[in-house]
Amino acid sequence: MPSPSLDSLPAQFDPVAIERPIYERWRAAGVFTAAAERSNRVGGDREPFTIVIPPPNVTAVLHMGHGLDNVAQDVLVRWRRMAGDEALWVPGTDHAGIATQNVVEKLIWNTEKKTRFDVGRAEFVERTEAFVRETGGAILKQLEAIGSSCDWSRTAYTLSPELSRAVREAFVRLYEKGLVYRGHRVIHWCPRCLTSLSDEEAEPHETTGKLYHIAYPLAGEPSRSLVVATTRPETMLGDVAVAVNPNDERYRDLIGRRVVLPIVNLEIPVLADDYADPAFGTGVVKITPAHDANDFEVGMRHKLSMPVVIDEHAVVREVSDAQGRVPDELRGLDRFEARERIVERLQASRQLVKVEAHQHSVRRCYRCDTIVEPRLSDQWFVRMKPLAEPALQAVRDGTIRIVPDRWEGVYVHWMENIRDWNISRQLWWGHRIPVWYCDACRMQTASRTDIDRCPKCSGAVRQDEDVLDTWFSSWLWPLSTLGWPDANARDYRAFYPTDVLVTGPDILFFWVARMIMAGYFFDGRHPFHTVFLHGIMRDTQHRKMSKSLANGIDPLDVVNLYGADALRWTVVSGMGLGVDQILDPNNLEQSFSPGRNFATKLWNIGRFLLGNLGSDSVMPLTELAATRLTRADRWILSRLNETITNIEAALGAPRPPGKVGGRWPQGAARLGMRLDAYAEVARRFVWDEVADWYVEVSKGRLGDKGPDRDVARAVLVHVFDRALRLLHPIVPFITEALWQRLPGRNEDELLAAAAWPRVDERLGAAEREFEEVRAAVTGIRRLRAEYAVPPGTVVDVLLSPPTEAAGLAAANGRWAETVLREEAPLIGRLTKSRVAMAAQTPSGAAAHAVLPSHWSIIVPLEGLIDVGRECERQRSELASLEKQLSSLGARLENANFLTRAKPEIVEAERAKHREWSARRLVLAEKVKALCGD
Ligand SMILES: [Zn+2]
Ligand SMILES: [Zn+2]
Repeated sequence: MPSPSLDSLPAQFDPVAIERPIYERWRAAGVFTAAAERSNRVGGDREPFTIVIPPPNVTAVLHMGHGLDNVAQDVLVRWRRMAGDEALWVPGTDHAGIATQNVVEKLIWNTEKKTRFDVGRAEFVERTEAFVRETGGAILKQLEAIGSSCDWSRTAYTLSPELSRAVREAFVRLYEKGLVYRGHRVIHWCPRCLTSLSDEEAEPHETTGKLYHIAYPLAGEPSRSLVVATTRPETMLGDVAVAVNPNDERYRDLIGRRVVLPIVNLEIPVLADDYADPAFGTGVVKITPAHDANDFEVGMRHKLSMPVVIDEHAVVREVSDAQGRVPDELRGLDRFEARERIVERLQASRQLVKVEAHQHSVRRCYRCDTIVEPRLSDQWFVRMKPLAEPALQAVRDGTIRIVPDRWEGVYVHWMENIRDWNISRQLWWGHRIPVWYCDACRMQTASRTDIDRCPKCSGAVRQDEDVLDTWFSSWLWPLSTLGWPDANARDYRAFYPTDVLVTGPDILFFWVARMIMAGYFFDGRHPFHTVFLHGIMRDTQHRKMSKSLANGIDPLDVVNLYGADALRWTVVSGMGLGVDQILDPNNLEQSFSPGRNFATKLWNIGRFLLGNLGSDSVMPLTELAATRLTRADRWILSRLNETITNIEAALGAPRPPGKVGGRWPQGAARLGMRLDAYAEVARRFVWDEVADWYVEVSKGRLGDKGPDRDVARAVLVHVFDRALRLLHPIVPFITEALWQRLPGRNEDELLAAAAWPRVDERLGAAEREFEEVRAAVTGIRRLRAEYAVPPGTVVDVLLSPPTEAAGLAAANGRWAETVLREEAPLIGRLTKSRVAMAAQTPSGAAAHAVLPSHWSIIVPLEGLIDVGRECERQRSELASLEKQLSSLGARLENANFLTRAKPEIVEAERAKHREWSARRLVLAEKVKALCGD
C-alpha cells in the first residue's frame, strides 16, 4: 500500500506547481518577519542578524545580476534564521534620481515630443511620482519568485517621508559641522542629462583618440613658438595662459613673456607652475581653467580669469568672461563639430604641428554614456577626508572585513586618495537640497524643516533648485531603513549595526565605502562587519550581461522553466570566491543544468525514501540505544557530523568574536563566505553518502519486518531530515516540499523555521570501520569492471590479511578482520560476489586490491575470464607504455627542450611522466598476477 505521504508527491518534479504555494505558506506563517523585541540588544534572547538589500532602482526589472546578489543574501539569512538568530532582511528600492528621471523624460518625449522644461518642474515631479506608483517596485514582487525571504513588512524606499527625513538630517548635520559646502569649481557635466556628476558617476573608458600638437607663437617674435598638445582643441578658445615647469631649462627665459592664442588672437602669459611636467610632450601645457579640473587649480593659484566657452549642452559659445573669444563661424556649433573646424583652421594657418593617435581615457556618463564635459560651476560638496579616516581604520583594524580580501587593498587605496564628493545634481527627481537663500541679506540657511522667511532679516527666501545625488540617500540606507535619526527607534536599537552587506564590486565606492563613512559619522559605529563582494554575471564571451548588449538572462524565464531552486543551486554552486560567473543566455537548458539535475535527483531520492519508509511513526534517534546501530548507521551519522562541521567551516563565523563591534582575527576575510564550497559539501553528502551508500546498504533492512527495520527507518529519517535542513538555504522550495512529507511531521511545522542541525557529540567517529567496507565494495566493483566480468556472473572473493612483510601491527589486522568477517554478506550483496576469508593465498592468476587496513581483496581469475588472452593483452599494453615512457624520458633529459620550451609545458610533460610511471607499476603488477611472471 503506498504511503499517504507519497500520494501528494508527484512522480515528476514540477517546480512551478510547488513553489508559489510554498512561498505563500511561508509568508502567511510570518516566517520572514523579524521581531525587534527578540533581539538581545533590547533584552531579548537571540542574536540579531541583519542584512539590508542593495536597493534596486525603483523602476528596475530583475536581471541575473540581482538574481545572484539576492540568492546569496537569502542563503545567508535563511541559514542564520535556522541557526536561531533573529534574522532580518530589509528590502526596499532606490528612487534612482538620474535613472528614473531619464526613463520618464524619454517616455514624455516619445509620447508628447516635450522636454521636461516644456512640462515644468512641478508637473514633471508629479508625473514621475505617478509613474513610480504605477510601475515601481515590480522588482520586489519578482524577488519573491526566486524565494527571497525578505521581511516585506519593513519595505523601504529612499524617497519615503521617513527616509527623506534622514537625508535632511544628514545634510544639515554635515552642514553644521562645515563638512558640506558650496564650491565653485570644475566638475563632470553630462550635456545630455544636464547635470553634474560625481567622479564615480563619470566612468573612465579607455579610448584611442588623437593628440593635437598646436604652435602658439611668441608675441612680438612670430618665428618662435611654444607647442602644446591637447586631445580637446575646442577648449583652446578658453585658454588664458600656457605653463612651463619652473625648473625646465628650455623655457626659463620665456617665463613672463606672452604667446598669441591662435584663432582667438589674444595674447596670453607664459607661467611657471609645477603642474607642467617637463617629461610629458614638449613640457608646455595650455591652461583652460573653466574646462579642465587641473587647469582650474592652476587658475586658482595664479588668479587667472576663467572664461567659459562651452555651454551646458556642450555647444561652443561665449557663456561668461569670454567676450570676443568665439569667432562667429564657430558660435553655436556642437563641441565635436567645433573641434573639426578648429583643426581645419589650424591646418590652414600652419599652426597644427602634428596629430598623433593617442591612448587615453575619456569619461562617460554612467547613465547615458554621453562623453562628459568638464565644466566650471557652483555645486555642493562633501568634505570627505575627515569622514574617510574612521572608515579606513575600521578595515585596517578588522572591525570590518571585505571578502574576498584583495578588495581591502583597493578600498584602502581609494580611501587614502579620496576627493570631495559633488552631491548636487541639476535634476528634478530626488531630495531637494535643504538650503534656502535670502536675496535681501545674502543669508544662506540649511534647515531640517522647510522655511519661507529668512531667519536673519525675515525677508523672502528661495530654496536651492538642485537635488541631491541619489547616493546621498543610499549611503544612509542601513541607518535610515532601521529608523535613524530617531535614536529610540525600535529597529535601530535592535538591529543596527547590521551584519553582512552583499553586493558586486562595481559599487564598492559608489555605495559601500560611503555607507561605512556615513555609519561612523552619524552613528559612531560600523554599519556592518562584513562586506561580501560576489563576482559579476558574464556571458560565454566573458562580457558583462547588459541591456545594451542584449546578452542578459531573465531570471523569471529560468524560474518558469526550471524552478527557482534550479536557478539558486546553479548560482550558488558557481559562486567561487571573487570569481565571475559565466552563463550562456542562448542556452538556458545547459546553463542551468547543474541546478535542474540537482533538484531532480533530490526529488527522486526523496520519492524513493518516502516510498520505502512507510507512513507509521518513526522513533526519534535519541530514543534509540546506540548498541542497536549497525556499522553503516554509525558511519552515516558520523558523516552527517562531519558534513555539518564542513559546511559551517565553509560559511565561516557569522560575526566577529566578542560584543558588537568586535574585531575579526587577522586573515578572517580569507575564511568563510564560501557558498560554493557549502553547496558542494552538502551535495556530496546527499549524493555520494546518503543516496549511493547508505540507502543502498539499508534497502534490505527496510523490507524486513523485524526490529532492525525501526532502526533503519529512524536513522534514515534522521539523516534525510538533517540533509534537507542543510540544503534548505540554497534550495528552499524542494527541501520544504520533501520535509513536509517525512513521517511524523506536524502540519504546521515549516522547514523554513526549523532548526539548523548541530553536531551530535554522542556519535564519535565511527568512520574507519565502515570505510573499510566501502573500500572493499569499491575495490571489488573496480576489479569486475577492469576485467570486464559480465554483470550477471557471481565472483568469488577472498579477503587476505596483511603480510608480516608489510610491517603492520597485528592489532591493525585484527579490527579489520572482525569488520570484514561480519560485513562479508553485505559486501557480497553489494558486489554480486561470494566473499570468504582466505585461509592461504590462492595459486594461479588473480586480481588484487589493497584496503586501507592493508588487508587485500583477491579475485581468482581462472574460469572467470580467458586468462591467456587477457595476459597477452596486458603484456602488449605494458610494452607500448614502456616505449612511450622511454621517449618521454629522453625528451625530459634533452637540455635543448628544457631551455627552449615554456616552463608550463615542461612541467606538464613532467607531470605526464609521473603519471605514466605510476601506471606502468600498476600494469606490471597486473601482468605478474595474470601471466605468473
Ligand atoms: Zn547622462
Ligand atoms: Zn535675509
